[in-house]
Parts: sequence; structure tokens; C-alpha cells
Amino acid sequence: DFNSRTTATGNDEIGGLGRTFNSMAASLARAEQNRRDFLANVSHELKTPVASIQALAETILDGLAAKPAQQERYLQTIVGESNRINRLIRELLDMAQLEAGELSIVRQKLDIREFWEQEQDKYVSLLAAKALSLEVDIPAGLSPVWADPDRLSQVLSNLLSNAIRYAPEQSTLTLTARSVPQFLSLALTDQGPGIAPADLPHIWERFYRVDSARARDSGGTGLGLSITKKLVETMGGSITVHSVVNEGSTFSFTLPVASE
Ligand code: ADP
Repeated sequence: DFNSRTTATGNDEIGGLGRTFNSMAASLARAEQNRRDFLANVSHELKTPVASIQALAETILDGLAAKPAQQERYLQTIVGESNRINRLIRELLDMAQLEAGELSIVRQKLDIREFWEQEQDKYVSLLAAKALSLEVDIPAGLSPVWADPDRLSQVLSNLLSNAIRYAPEQSTLTLTARSVPQFLSLALTDQGPGIAPADLPHIWERFYRVDSARARDSGGTGLGLSITKKLVETMGGSITVHSVVNEGSTFSFTLPVASE
């Protein structure tokens, strides 16, 4: 009786170990696959602009772009592609630091109205280039938040540049701030193409782009939202999206209110 009990327990334990081992192996294989996908994505994202810079520079050097206007167009593309590479590298470094838990977040008490007043000028020319109007609704008297101004500025810049990128010309964007228990909620709405329900859960993933050709043409890297989400979460908030195809999207995030 004793023996059969121990045998039974032993079998159970071995079965359990086997299952644990299988699931560990599966998750290691998944991690390895993710790592490989990630490297393939990074290489592809770097190769594309480098190839285009090389081809354009060679065309100019070989004297095949004779007209000054043509040369200027090529040079402008070279500058644009170099900017993309720069942005990608900056975002990769941010992501590496965020994932290693090494990104320094220095939080302080911030008044959102004052903060926006300092930030708004950055967007004037981007908005003007597409004749967009930005309606801002940040009521006076909201509690100050506890946030890192540089990181908050990065979050706003990522969300606003997406909204500006995807919004149709002459449309309206709105930025609102509201107080919710213990948090302040900031929401940015655009009248852009929206995001299909099947894509929505994935937009926070690294390199995920709903329409990769269009997103790439418009200068996107597919890293912006995954960094934005991590930054918001590192500051103690959360981020959500509500989107209706052909109507637009609203990205909302919260920040903890500073305790007195
Ligand atoms: P990207 O740098 O390509 O914009 P993001 O991580 O910022 O990458 O966004 C991921 C994808 O989510 C985008 O490629 C785009 O398809 C979609 N997306 C993000 N913001 C918006 C928006 N405001 N309207 C429509 N689609 C959006």
C-alpha cells in the first residue's frame, strides 16, 4: 500500500515535471522566435532607408541627376531617410532601456495646463502643414500630476505625431484633460482612418503597423506606441484606445495625481 502510494505520487511528480518542462521549453522557443523576429524587423527597418540613401547618393555621384531640382529632391529624400534612421536608433535605445528597467524616470509635481502651455509651440508648424486645428480643453483647477516632464513630453509627442500623421487635412484634433479618482486622464481624438477591431489589440506591439506601406511612407517606425505604453506605465498610469474605422481614434492615458 505504502509502495503503491509513493509510486503514484512519484508518477504524478514526474508527470508534473514533464508538463512544467514542456511549457518552459515552449516559452523559451517563443522567446527565441520573438528575438529572431525582432532582429529581422530591426535589420529590415535599417536596410530600407540605407539602400535608398545609397542609391540616391550614387545616382548624384554618377552624374545621372543632372538638373539641380532633381538633385535637390534626391538630397531631401536622403535627409528624410537619415532622419528615419536616427529616430529608429533613438527609439531602439529607449526601448532597450525601458525593457532593462534602466530608463531613468524623474517624477515631479506638474500642472498640466502650464505643461501644455510650454509644449504647444512644438506642434504649430506640424499642424499648420496639414491645416489641422487642435482644440484643447484643459480646465483650470485640475490637481497636479506626478510625472516626468521629459517622458510626458515624449508620450504627447508620439500620440500627437500619430494623430497628425493619420488625420485627413483640415480636420480637427482635440486634446482634453479630465480628473478621475486619483488620476488625471488625458485624451487625444482625431478624425483619421481609425483602426479595425482586429488590429486594435496589436498596435502596442513592437513594429506592428496596420498598413505598413502607408505608415512607412508617412515616416512611422512601428515602435512609437509600444514605447509610449511603457512610458505611461512606468509613470504609474495606463493607456487605452477607442477607435471606429472611418471615424477616428481616441488615445487616452492616465497619470497619477500628486499627493499633497
Ligand atoms: P508608427 O511609428 O508606424 O506610427 P506606432 O507604434 O506609433 O507606429 O503605431 C502603430 C500603428 O498603429 C501605426 O502604424 C498605425 O497603423 C496605427 N495607428 C497609430 N496611431 C493611429 C491613429 N491616430 N490613427 C490611425 N492609426 C493609428
